[in-house]
Amino acid sequence: MESQGAIVLFRRDLRLDDNAALGAACARGGPVVPCFVWSPEEDGSWAPGAAARWWLHHSLGALDASLGERGARLVIRRGPTREALEGLVEETGARAVYWSRSCEPARAAADVDLADALRAGGIETRSFAGALLAEPASVRKKDGSPYRVFTPFFRTFLARVRAGAPARPPREIPFPAAAPESLRREALELLPRVDWTAGLRAAWTPGEAGAATAWKRFLARAADKYAQARDVPGIAGTSRLSPHLHFGEISVRRMWRDAARRRKGAPAARAAGIDAYVRQLVWREFAHHVLWHFPRTPDDPLQIAFARFPWASAPAEREAWQRGRTGYPIVDAGMRELWATGWMHNRVRMIVASFLVKHLRVSWQEGARWFWDTLVDADLANNTFGWQWAAGCGADAAPYFRIFNPELQGRKFDPEGAYVRRWVPELAVLPARWIHAPWRAPAEALCAAGVELGRTYPAPIVEHAAARAGALAALAAMRKGSRQTGSGGGGSNGTPNALERRLAEMRPDS
Ligand SMILES: Cc1cc2nc3c(=O)[nH]c(=O)nc-3n(C[C@H](O)[C@H](O)[C@H](O)COP(=O)(O)OP(=O)(O)OC[C@H]3O[C@@H](n4cnc5c(N)ncnc54)[C@H](O)[C@@H]3O)c2cc1C
Repeated sequence: MESQGAIVLFRRDLRLDDNAALGAACARGGPVVPCFVWSPEEDGSWAPGAAARWWLHHSLGALDASLGERGARLVIRRGPTREALEGLVEETGARAVYWSRSCEPARAAADVDLADALRAGGIETRSFAGALLAEPASVRKKDGSPYRVFTPFFRTFLARVRAGAPARPPREIPFPAAAPESLRREALELLPRVDWTAGLRAAWTPGEAGAATAWKRFLARAADKYAQARDVPGIAGTSRLSPHLHFGEISVRRMWRDAARRRKGAPAARAAGIDAYVRQLVWREFAHHVLWHFPRTPDDPLQIAFARFPWASAPAEREAWQRGRTGYPIVDAGMRELWATGWMHNRVRMIVASFLVKHLRVSWQEGARWFWDTLVDADLANNTFGWQWAAGCGADAAPYFRIFNPELQGRKFDPEGAYVRRWVPELAVLPARWIHAPWRAPAEALCAAGVELGRTYPAPIVEHAAARAGALAALAAMRKGSRQTGSGGGGSNGTPNALERRLAEMRPDS
């Protein structure tokens, strides 16, 4: 391969649009080898779960097809990443390796070692921003410390961050005449052996084209009403872009720019919808900011006092939660939507997470693991943030003592029961009055709807008032223990570990 040849390592930037690493490689003028290395062991205990692997399989296929339209193809290898790239450099004679920067701390630190190793072999390396609107370490308080509360982070973000203009995709990608060998996608065994993915296939179109369609549809049909509709799970009021964003199939910079254009000169009601949406995109930035500065949070609570919370084991209840058989219709609808489609509405994620950690007192870590395996959008920053928020132990979290009542949440956000009827068909014809509390319905109403509690649909596995009292007692016990040992809430995670020290030393653009 000519001396300008470059390898582009695709990871969570599975798109051609606004992909700075790909653009820079093409600009060198020599052949470009787009490459994907499957190296789940490098993600430690957070390797992609089953639903995310299904997504990845299809997204790689879509990327390969788009590259093919521009004269190239995706070269697939197995990890470790460093060995795979060194092998590909040797085979192709490439002189450079480019990639989009990871915004997850452990991966980002590993990338520094990767760059060092390749450079030691005389290979030029460059990394580019692209997953977020701002580098996770770039927004800080005046004293240089990280934010732990969203509103001031949001204000500083809006005042300081200027998302650059997105770049167009390259028209052609010069691929080497002698194509490097590639594994077939199937060889990575990303798909499950027993096919349970029909619901995922029906719900999603992984890949850049699917992302662009979803984004355009959302802008045209739902963005203006997002502020009111985003909390109603029974309607298509949100963008459902989370898996596309996670895999980098859409540029958040392009979304930011499109949103700003649509807002310009818009009437107040429309502007409110766009503003509310943009705010959610900044929650995503905030979740990454928190993960970056507190890299132990996927496993440990940010508020250290919660390390001694007396979580319950409750395997039977936990399984009822996983299977959508708790007897609380809004909780069961959410868990079944997740199982069937690999996704759940945000409002319902908050309700089911609260139910697990407060009503059942099962640890947030167990909930996060279940989501990790079942969500197509499973994302270390957002999932960790969401679970710690729900458990009351994270940044800007809902206080543990504030306990969602699932019946009232259902009545408020799914008043006619449209969402429950869809996902819990055994309650489909129960009148709206009883749909969120079938245990209160008179025998005639249940009989007319064909519901027999305990047989066709479970009776509640815990009683709300008793569960609430139990959760508050557990919180009091935790606080008492903390006072006795002096390990109060709101503290840091103690002495920095190796990764935390490393991140503190890393330049934001390393
Ligand atoms: C317990 C729990 C676990 C979660 N796990 C994940 C996860 O693994 N992956 C994930 O992407 N999101 C997670 N979320 C956040 C949120 O529920 C999803 O991002 C959202 O439901 C995705 O749907 P959407 O694309 O239609 O969102 P929209 O409402 O259309 O929002 C647009 C985008 O903004 C971002 N966003 C929206 N809300 C949040 C939020 N609260 N925190 C961070 N980013 C947000 C997402 O990237 C989303 O795609 C979790 C929330 C909770 C409460």
